[in-house]
Amino acid sequence: SVPAAIASALSAGARHGILLKGGAVIEAAARTTDVAFDKTGTLTRGRPQVTDIVVIKGHEDDLVSRAAAVERGSSHPLAVAILDHANRVGLDIQVAKDAHAMPGKGASAQVNGVRLTVGSPRYAGDCGVMDDDALAKAQKMETDGKTVVALFSDQVCYGLIALRDEPREDAFGAVAALKKLGIHPIMLTGDNARTAAAIAGQLDIDHRAELMPQGKVDALRGLTKKSQVMMVGDGINDAPALATAQVGVAMGSGTDVALETADVAILRNRVADVVGTIRLSRATLRNIR
Ligand code: ADP
Ligand code: MG
Repeated sequence: SVPAAIASALSAGARHGILLKGGAVIEAAARTTDVAFDKTGTLTRGRPQVTDIVVIKGHEDDLVSRAAAVERGSSHPLAVAILDHANRVGLDIQVAKDAHAMPGKGASAQVNGVRLTVGSPRYAGDCGVMDDDALAKAQKMETDGKTVVALFSDQVCYGLIALRDEPREDAFGAVAALKKLGIHPIMLTGDNARTAAAIAGQLDIDHRAELMPQGKVDALRGLTKKSQVMMVGDGINDAPALATAQVGVAMGSGTDVALETADVAILRNRVADVVGTIRLSRATLRNIR
């Protein structure tokens, strides 16, 4: 019977750490034509490492410790990586006040009486503090697939910090498997166009870059007009995007994956389980019909 087939699919999924929110989700997932992925933490490991420090004004230790001070209040993967780096090097991290996040752009706080921002070179450029030389250095590192952030005040850019986040081991196979199923995979990211192109090139996946959080929602809205879209993200920062796609998939490890924000929760933090979700859903519908 239909209810029995659905119940058995739900429990088969659950055995593999794939929680589906009901029969309607199975039906919607089976019809998927496009899978949109968030980049950071979904297609990449989400654990960037500091690779380069470019001082423009002042001293290197000061650059890193002030950047870490600004980032202390933020849970963004870039913030975590900069704090880790400062701690590993053994720097004293200064006290910051009035910290706030600017999603898709950076973070800002008051350090020793000066308002400082750690953000994308593009945002630093919009703020009028990036000269051509600094911009060229940033762009060169971005072309290598690194993400670059600048530390700047409203007057001057103090320097650049480059970070590298590797694609996940299983992302390559998952992207290839989706294509074999006739599904179009696409990466959506707020990262800059050069870094995004380098990572998308490694994974051989279509992509859209420099999307602010609302830009991801708009991009998805466009996709859903023509396609049946599954959106895969971490479910914390991506709730609006997950809600916009026909099927929202939250991927993470264990308890931090909230099924409230998504139609599907992947508990074992494996991109391959996205393919598993679609295969299971298709097989279930085939049994019912
Ligand atoms: P993604 O789509 O890769 O998850 P985000 O939208 O989170 O990217 O961030 C986009 C860009 O905004 C980052 O690449 C970075 O340049 C900048 N940014 C966002 N938050 C921060 C932060 N806390 N510190 C530094 N840069 C940040
Ligand atoms: Mg993100």
